[in-house]
Amino acid sequence: MGCSTADVVNAVRAMAVVVAAHRDELVDLDRVIGDGDHGENLKRGFDFVVSAVDSSEVDSPAAVLKLVAKTLISKVGGASGPLYGTAFLRAATDLEEVDGASVAAALRAALDGVVARGKAEIGDKTMVDALLPAVEAAEAVKDKSVAEVLAAAATAAETGAESTIPLVARKGRASYLGERSAGHLDPGARSTALLLRSLADSASA
Ligand code: ADP
Ligand code: MG
Ligand code: MG
Repeated sequence: MGCSTADVVNAVRAMAVVVAAHRDELVDLDRVIGDGDHGENLKRGFDFVVSAVDSSEVDSPAAVLKLVAKTLISKVGGASGPLYGTAFLRAATDLEEVDGASVAAALRAALDGVVARGKAEIGDKTMVDALLPAVEAAEAVKDKSVAEVLAAAATAAETGAESTIPLVARKGRASYLGERSAGHLDPGARSTALLLRSLADSASA
């Protein structure tokens, strides 16, 4: 990915394709420890996102991310819409140039937004368990290219998502299950890993 507005729009479109391809998987994960709508929530949200980018004039990478944020916040029911929306909104703040350091900073801002909104800590079995290690991995290589920063983030998010399996959920619907939530992958951590891998793939294409 170069880092023009068009590149960011293409990366957003690619995320929508990934979300659609993994809709059923995310629904199945959420059926086990939640209410079975995570894949549909995200797919609907990203369908609206694609319509929004098709019908809007966006003139900067930050403007694209703000449009994504606004759309997810307004169109996605459930916990994940406002959380991902906040993540995209915060990522857009201060994103003027797109280089490795600014992408790492944008990921940190996204995490801070998710935590401010949802109050989850590491180990609570949420998307934070994927996003926090992703941010740390990104920051560790922030002097490298955007593609390398995002690849490090995606790999750490995948490991972080897997780490949710044994955990007992302490936030979100899965927390209603108590100990019975243990032994299952958290759907939001999985979707975070999928989104970051998609971004990394777009950046290295
Ligand atoms: P809902 O639970 O309202 O049906 P979704 O199914 O779309 O919403 O999203 C569920 C995911 O949201 C969970 O798997 C978890 O990763 C994430 N989540 C829920 N509550 C929080 C929170 N307070 N902080 C961070 N992530 C959360
Ligand atoms: Mg759900
Ligand atoms: Mg729901």
